[in-house]
Amino acid sequence: MKVINNVKMILPAKRGNESFARASVAAFCASLSPTIEEINDIKTAVSEAVTNAIVHAYTDESGEILLEVVLYDDKVVDITVTDEGKGLEDPDEARKPFFTTKPQEEHSGMGFTIMEAFMDTLEVTSVIGRGTTVKLRKKIGKNA
Ligand code: ATP
Ligand code: MG
Repeated sequence: MKVINNVKMILPAKRGNESFARASVAAFCASLSPTIEEINDIKTAVSEAVTNAIVHAYTDESGEILLEVVLYDDKVVDITVTDEGKGLEDPDEARKPFFTTKPQEEHSGMGFTIMEAFMDTLEVTSVIGRGTTVKLRKKIGKNA
C-alpha cells in the first residue's frame, strides 16, 4: 500500500470542533470517490472518536486533539484520533456495548461499538495519565 495523500490537524478539544473534524475528514476522503453511505460511515465514526476525546479525555475542554488522515492507493483510509488526556483503564472493557463511565450525562456507551460497526477496523491504545489513540480504517469501494 502506497500513501497518496495525508493530513494532520490539531484541534482544541472544544465541543463544536467535532463537526469541523467530521466535515474536513469527509472532504479529504472525497478523492477516493466514496459512496454517500461510506462517507456517512466515516463521518459518524470520526464524530464518535473526536467527541470521546472532548468529553472523556479532558475535563475542562482545555486540551488538544491530533487528527490524522492517510489515504492509500488501494482506496484505504486510515484515521487516527489522539489525545493527551486522562487515558482509559481498560480499552477492551471500554469497547463493549453499553459500557460508559458517564451514564448520568446521557451517554449510552455505544461510541466504540458504532466506530467498530461503521469502519473495517478499530484499534484503541491508551496509557493512564498520558492519553488515548483511536485508529480507524476503512476500505472504500468494497461493494462496487
Ligand atoms: P456514547 O458514545 O454512547 O455517548 P460513551 O462515550 O460513554 O457513550 P464510548 O464512546 O463507547 O461510550 O466510550 C466508552 C467509555 O470509554 C467512555 O465512557 C469513557 O469512559 C471511555 N473513553 C472513551 N474515549 C476516551 C478517551 N479519549 N479518553 C478517556 N476515556 C475514554
Ligand atoms: Mg462516546
